[in-house]
Amino acid sequence: MRFPSEPFKIKVVEPIRRTTREERDRLLREAGYNLFHVPAESVYVDLLTDSGTSAMSDNQWAGLMLGDESYAGSKNYYHFEETVRSIFGYRYVIPTHQGRMAENLLFSTVVKPGMCVPNNIHFDTTRANVEHQGAEALDVVIKEAYDPHCEMPFKGNMDLIRLEDTINRVGRDRIPLVMLTITNNSGGGQPVSMENIRQTRALLTRHGIPLLFDACRFAENCFFIKERETGYADASILAIARELFGYGDGCTMSAKKDGLVNIGGFLSLNHEQWVQDITNMLILVEGFPTYGGLAGRDLEAMARGLREVLDEDYLRFRIGQVRYLGELLDNAGVSILKPVGGHAVYLNAKEFLPHLRPEEFPAQALAVALYREHGIRGVEIGTVMFGKKDPATGRTIYPELEMVRLAIPRRVYTNMQITYVAESIIELHRRRDAIGGLKMTYEAPVLRHFTARFEELPPARLHPV
Ligand SMILES: *Cc1c(COP(=O)(O)O)cnc(C)c1O
Repeated sequence: MRFPSEPFKIKVVEPIRRTTREERDRLLREAGYNLFHVPAESVYVDLLTDSGTSAMSDNQWAGLMLGDESYAGSKNYYHFEETVRSIFGYRYVIPTHQGRMAENLLFSTVVKPGMCVPNNIHFDTTRANVEHQGAEALDVVIKEAYDPHCEMPFKGNMDLIRLEDTINRVGRDRIPLVMLTITNNSGGGQPVSMENIRQTRALLTRHGIPLLFDACRFAENCFFIKERETGYADASILAIARELFGYGDGCTMSAKKDGLVNIGGFLSLNHEQWVQDITNMLILVEGFPTYGGLAGRDLEAMARGLREVLDEDYLRFRIGQVRYLGELLDNAGVSILKPVGGHAVYLNAKEFLPHLRPEEFPAQALAVALYREHGIRGVEIGTVMFGKKDPATGRTIYPELEMVRLAIPRRVYTNMQITYVAESIIELHRRRDAIGGLKMTYEAPVLRHFTARFEELPPARLHPV
């Protein structure tokens, strides 16, 4: 089946309040046209992120009641540790409250000033944590990853020639480890192939450099391998995951993605000395090693979520639902990033609003219009988030792509709600000439997208459709 129906039925429902256009218009004005400042209660379909927004299963909720809240040696920790070992295969398992803490502990232990950490593409928090140590976070993904029209099955792959050049140029002593983000979040949720992972491993073995995975969406990546890579059609997701992680020396994980929980993360490694140093730091900043900033019940929910996410029926639905949204839009002539990745559909705002100039923030303007007209919240990934000021001239340097990301929470929205999203965007596309640009009136010195404020500019050309 091309678009599988939901492999679950709904036992508990959370009502969504409908709002009027007038109400949303007022909320936007109050929020300074920044969707991070719109109350979630006033959003009909919230596609801001797929992180920590998953619906837990009855089995996970039941697990919460079995939380053992002992300070040390909680039974839920042992269950969690055994689960992580059985999937990822690394010896040591260190729980953290979310992914960025796992990154912080790892990099503050092994990365020193002047070093360099290559990755296919660093996720924001990964990059920030590497740079916080005074090191360079280098993106070494294949060049096709930056072309929104290039359809390749594994657009998240590492560029092995550039990786080897980097090692030769920088020197192995200044590269404490190489990371691979699966799937590649910042590149549109594109997967990495097993072949590319195998070759990355071989290259790094020759140079004696460890390989670590940023494993947030590992199950989605394994499903793409099963679907697209020769030789894996009959393998289970667990078998694919075991082989994949077998090529690495450890991983960091935000369980808010493929852990199917609302909070949680971990670090899993083989390197004994690293683990000792990290554990000492963990006790200082996060908590005792058998809870790592979480409650016992959170560990239980995470252990159960990690097993559920390997279910092929679930993954077929999950990947299928995201693809369904992408295809409805594509078939209607709405320009999206292709191929559709694992967790989100990206609207190409430059082609959606060709009448807006880059300094009018086309992707932000599109996200604002989508909320005002239809109550749907996406997130701008463009000039607001990544635009930089040239220190010499003070002029803005614009990023290559202007996109609105529609990230789909796991097991939360029905295919009918996803259809509503597609129809709303197609309707907006028909009337796109009426969408005006924005002017930024406040920006913070760092991570400005969270707090920026805007004013609306009058639409460039208004004509009835
Ligand atoms: C979300 C994410 C992180 C950080 O995890 P948090 O739980 O948000 O701290 C790291 N890497 C990738 C690829 C992610 O998607």
